[in-house]
Amino acid sequence: MPAEQHAPTGDGGRQNPRRVRAPADVPILGPQNAPRERQNPDLLNPPSTDGGVVPNLRFSFADAHVRTSSAGWAREVTERELPAARSMAGVNMRLTPGGIRELHWHLQVEFGYVLAGSCRITAVDTDGRTFVDDVEQGDVWFFPKAIPHSIQGLTDGCEFLLVFDDGAFSEYNTFLLTDLIGHLPLDVLENNFGRPASDFSRIPKEELYIFQGEVPGLLSDDRIAGGGGEVPHSFSHRFAAEVPEEFPGGTVRTVHSGNFQVMNNVAAGLVTVNPGAMREIHWHTTNDEWQYYLEGQGRMTVFMANGLARTFDFQAGDVGYVPFACAHYVENTGDAPLAFLEVFKADRMADMSLHQWLALTPPQLVQAHLNTSDEFIGSLRKKKWEVVNKIV
Ligand code: MN
Ligand code: MN
Repeated sequence: MPAEQHAPTGDGGRQNPRRVRAPADVPILGPQNAPRERQNPDLLNPPSTDGGVVPNLRFSFADAHVRTSSAGWAREVTERELPAARSMAGVNMRLTPGGIRELHWHLQVEFGYVLAGSCRITAVDTDGRTFVDDVEQGDVWFFPKAIPHSIQGLTDGCEFLLVFDDGAFSEYNTFLLTDLIGHLPLDVLENNFGRPASDFSRIPKEELYIFQGEVPGLLSDDRIAGGGGEVPHSFSHRFAAEVPEEFPGGTVRTVHSGNFQVMNNVAAGLVTVNPGAMREIHWHTTNDEWQYYLEGQGRMTVFMANGLARTFDFQAGDVGYVPFACAHYVENTGDAPLAFLEVFKADRMADMSLHQWLALTPPQLVQAHLNTSDEFIGSLRKKKWEVVNKIV
């Protein structure tokens, strides 16, 4: 069948060149922010396959305000920084050895991923059961909504990523212990605890939020001191110990309610992409995807139907966002491994592979659409490879 028969007619003969860019010989004459332009080659000179007005889907923690304290700091990427990110928000926080993120709770669930160092986390549930654990790099935690909790740096301090199931979340707008106490009449406190007013005279007048404490002692001592019995399902999980699925171009580890029972409204994947490889073209069937780049550098095009597509560049410390059902890939554009987290406001991580979809569809039907070679049809794999090696 001649190819012309299948040529698109309504869009001016659409072409799909390998990767053609606008002529680069029209230099910028005005002021330039060269370091930022070097970080965003695909914004400066997009592939010609990009099209239409696509919202911004990238924001770097490097561009976020840092709230500082002598015991650590926090910065956040919410829908105020990245307006497309309506279903999730993220926080990057650092605590010194002994540094405490004040006892607090919030409307949203909290997924934590330890980036460096180690910390002790605590929580109490509605049935009076306690949770105390030490977590280190690669471990995750999950606190259900409104469950009160704390985080404290151990001897080496810590840094971690938090993801919340609401883009409008703010780390600076949570329910804090000191804020609560400071807004209750003294006689109410006396009656509630059955103690005289003098017991409440030294409570800080301002919220603590992040403040310096002593490095905690033995975990076993804190567990005994908590009493009350343990929560039935741990709020922490050794994510790094999870056996990854191996693919020709990299690996994928997942965490969800199936292997971490308390995590009921968030699922996450840790994807590694070798140099010269790519997270394959896919989309998700559950919800938006919130990404955090852990190492390396990458490139993603997001396709939003009706000719809309935009390509973004990422490096460690950046946040990416993919609206629900929009197709995307993530290519390693560096010489070192690329690693990123995919986080979903969903009970599981579920994706549709373009490759597998075509492989499992009647060949003549695929042929009728793509007018491709029999070899292409024959080469389609029925098994999903989430990370593939590039051939060009
Ligand atoms: Mn919290
Ligand atoms: Mn994805």
